[in-house]
Amino acid sequence: MQKILNYINGELVEPISKKYLENINPATGQIYSQCPDSDERDIELAVKSAESAIDSWSNMSASDRSKIMLTLAGLMERDLDKLAIAESIDQGKPLWLAKNGEIPRAISNIHFFATGIEHFSSESHSMGKHAINYTLRAPIGIVGCISPWNLPLYLFTWKIAPAIAAGNCVIAKPSEITPMTAFLFAELCIEAGLPKGVLNIVNGLGPKVGSAIVSHEKITAISFTGGTKTGEEIARVAGPKFKKLSLELGGKNPNIVFADCNFEKAVSESVRASFTNQGEICLCGSRIFIERSIYEKFKTEFVKQTAKLKVGNPLAEDTKVGAIASQQHFDKILSYIELAKQEGGKLLFGGNTVKLEGENATGFFILPTVFENLPFDCKTNQEEIFGPLVTLIPFDTEDDVLTMANSTQFGLSCTIWTENLARAHNIAAKVKSGIVWVNCWLLRDLRTPFGGMKSSGVGREGGLEAFRFFTETKNVCVKL
Ligand code: NAD
Repeated sequence: MQKILNYINGELVEPISKKYLENINPATGQIYSQCPDSDERDIELAVKSAESAIDSWSNMSASDRSKIMLTLAGLMERDLDKLAIAESIDQGKPLWLAKNGEIPRAISNIHFFATGIEHFSSESHSMGKHAINYTLRAPIGIVGCISPWNLPLYLFTWKIAPAIAAGNCVIAKPSEITPMTAFLFAELCIEAGLPKGVLNIVNGLGPKVGSAIVSHEKITAISFTGGTKTGEEIARVAGPKFKKLSLELGGKNPNIVFADCNFEKAVSESVRASFTNQGEICLCGSRIFIERSIYEKFKTEFVKQTAKLKVGNPLAEDTKVGAIASQQHFDKILSYIELAKQEGGKLLFGGNTVKLEGENATGFFILPTVFENLPFDCKTNQEEIFGPLVTLIPFDTEDDVLTMANSTQFGLSCTIWTENLARAHNIAAKVKSGIVWVNCWLLRDLRTPFGGMKSSGVGREGGLEAFRFFTETKNVCVKL
């Protein structure tokens, strides 16, 4: 059975405890590899290694750091198929999605920040003949990056790429549920010649090794993506230590469909926004608000297209919906299906597990599920489920839909379907979300600010925002 190892000081090493966690293939429910069960001793080693690397890495020219990262991106490109298969097996997502979406995006993350750092500059503020101010942006030092299981390598690289490009050394922790591609990535870092200690990957449980990263005195900034509750805990520990914090948390995103939309596009993209990656994307639109005059027509077509999505073995070409990432998450989604029924929801499609054949008979599969007839303020419509479960809700006016859309504690993303430009701008300005898509979904430009309002997070990632987060700002005022 394959043993995943930590990557510390440029080497692949066992955890000090020599203990391992079972890593399960969600499409079979079987253990298929072992993940280090690291603890604070491994974090201590990683910090020591980062300390010995920080001077030379932060003083290296941006273009030299960039060259090493571009070599790494090239190696990822070479191994794209291998990484995609590993991601699909580890996470449960369809292989085509990993191959065409996530792994290419992980490569883009490295490429984007490797080239971006060569264009990064800071400001100066002239006070005429009196003085000149200039801003220095220096690497912070040692930073912690903690990522979740839904888009494993994609979100892992989204954090570490700007951190190391900006000259920091990183202690990173992938999710214990999906540690495989970060391990393959570590092998590529060695092959690319990334200097030892620049990136250290320590695997294990969140409350054990994750919290050791958050509380370590020498790790002065934390970039975290994951659940809102975990974000709260991280803020509780890191806040009093005055660490720089970037928190990308949960969502319960509204998808608003007006009667004047391009109907075909709105339906097919809403299906995609609901069930891609089994609905396990923080940006999925799980509450679909439909203007009453087209509600029945939209519902019929939406359910028809949902029914065509094939749930199956993630490695099969025709699978549209793969396995739920873990038994625990599978149970959580099933409990929300029961809750939706108890709250009076009318099941329009799905609502059941799927029993596949052969080795997939013990996998974690759930049919895409659609409910209607649930009030906007019930638990099903307020809490993040993070699975293939959506609700359809009719609305009458722009004000009504805004009240309902803004009613949750979350504020990550929103999608608007309308051909009326003035209306699109009006809703975009008033909806409380960090990201708004008009007539599209998940169309990403890596230069744009990414992040959520309210309980969906603090801070923004992407483009210059990421470089600003991963650097310390200092103003120097020179009297002339
Ligand atoms: P999670 O919060 O359980 O875990 C995320 C990471 O934090 C994992 O690596 C975990 O081991 C670690 N962790 C857990 N407890 C910790 C602690 N006390 N201290 C430090 N680290 C700890 O989240 P998850 O279940 O892996 O991911 C799903 C969640 O992530 C959903 O809520 C989803 O919306 C959110 N998410 C948000 C975004 C975004 O960009 N806003 C993107 C993807 C996922």
